Amino acid sequence: MTTPDETSESTPETADTTPTSDKRELRFDTSWSYAPAPESTDHIRLESTYGLFIDGEMVEPASGERFSTINPARDEKLADVSMAGAADVDRAVQAARQALEGPWGQMSDAERGKILFRVARMIQERARELAIIESLDGGKPIRESRDIDIPLVAAHFFYYAGWADKLEFAFPGRHARPLGVAGQIIPWNFPLLMAAWKLAPALATGNTVVLKPAETTPLTALKLAEILQDAGVPPGVVNIVTGAGETGAELVQHPLVDKVAFTGSTEVGKIIQRALAGTSKRFTLELGGKAANIVFEDAAIDQAVEGIVNGIFFNQGHVCCAGSRLFVQESVADLLVAKLKDRMATLIVGDPLDKNTDIGAINSSDQLEKIESYLEIGKSEGVEVYQPSCSVPDSGFWCRPTLFLGCAQSHRVVQEEIFGPVLAVQTFRTVDEAIKKANNTPYGLSGGVWTDKGAKAFRISDKLRAGVVWANTYNKFDPSSPFGGYKESGVGREGGLHGLSPYLELSA
Ligand code: ADP
Repeated sequence: MTTPDETSESTPETADTTPTSDKRELRFDTSWSYAPAPESTDHIRLESTYGLFIDGEMVEPASGERFSTINPARDEKLADVSMAGAADVDRAVQAARQALEGPWGQMSDAERGKILFRVARMIQERARELAIIESLDGGKPIRESRDIDIPLVAAHFFYYAGWADKLEFAFPGRHARPLGVAGQIIPWNFPLLMAAWKLAPALATGNTVVLKPAETTPLTALKLAEILQDAGVPPGVVNIVTGAGETGAELVQHPLVDKVAFTGSTEVGKIIQRALAGTSKRFTLELGGKAANIVFEDAAIDQAVEGIVNGIFFNQGHVCCAGSRLFVQESVADLLVAKLKDRMATLIVGDPLDKNTDIGAINSSDQLEKIESYLEIGKSEGVEVYQPSCSVPDSGFWCRPTLFLGCAQSHRVVQEEIFGPVLAVQTFRTVDEAIKKANNTPYGLSGGVWTDKGAKAFRISDKLRAGVVWANTYNKFDPSSPFGGYKESGVGREGGLHGLSPYLELSA
């Protein structure tokens, strides 16, 4: 456990350059610190080695090959996990096929719903354990895994459990049949939540699944396997194959997979789309983003600052819908940036298991390298790189919250997804300019608008080419609300009623 005493006091590359005049406006006293409040891990039981979850059992991978999953806050191994190859993926898909034709396919809709309600309740019962494992394996602050990830996981299962025996009301006058076997591939930023987004609608609609978690965060999915078994999900209905990109590619290409659901990078999304071209497989893709958070001069500035911090710095910016581009109306830009720097100075970067932590560990050394390369790119493009002088632990992977100031539309740090706690700041004068600049991106997943005028918020959100636009808030989720992107941010919608149809064959 890292305590503040163990943290280095090294200063960031770019020192705090806040003008003295701005510092006079500091609203937070940063001269005192919180006592450590680490979550206990005594009750967490992790195996040293995990198999693959196929046909209701943990089985050895055909090759016997394993890889390590680490705690990125300490750069220490947590467990060895199995590397699934083509033979394992085939075994998992065959098991899913059989389950479809066996008990799951024959079960009544109400019974299926009952099992999913049980899964939701068991997730609630084991919420603390799941939250801790999520923070250990992924590096995210416990406050987020405890208060956001795991409650939303349970909420997704509750929500879709409710639809299982009501599909005739969801699609009146049409006959709804499951598509078959769904191959689902998920990323590392919200490991269990992404598993829930994928599994809950697929199971509620009567499909069976082969799920591939991300290689850096497989542990909560493997814990979920225990819950599914205990809840009475029949063997083969959900199979979990761990591995890297090759395992995902095997799943996408398997001829008995009827639908592919993917969340991850736009780059891999394009590879998957190419692999699926010409096949009859259905697919949904939830890909990258470079969301615009637009603050107008009539906005409540302090609230906007909180929303910006929540939108990009919490969860280390490891969110595809993160508000990674900030557009501020020129008249309030200096004030807002000063207040933002002031707030950034209070953010605690460190032990993900400490309840005081705002910004946890970067998920992997590869991701940290990528973020750091963008800090260099920003400098070479001539933008000002600002970081507060907060301490970070000595071991593990860390990035201080960062602003890119004085950005232009053409800068790579404005155009490309970085997936770290880094925010590119630009200004605008008119509403039209804000909309044009916000839409000038290959992505279109999400956005935010901060204004005192309701009509303005509606008018602007209508013009933003983004799947979700939040007004005077950011990163709010509910299982009943659809989520998905425009342009290179993806194909299809997940969540809500919209999230059911991608798993169904609907006929008259
Ligand atoms: P991120 O940048 O978020 O890591 P990736 O798109 O690389 O996103 O990874 C998301 C998921 O896709 C992970 O589970 C990863 O193993 C998987 N994956 C990576 N490459 C491929 C591929 N070629 N085909 C299928 N899945 C892949």
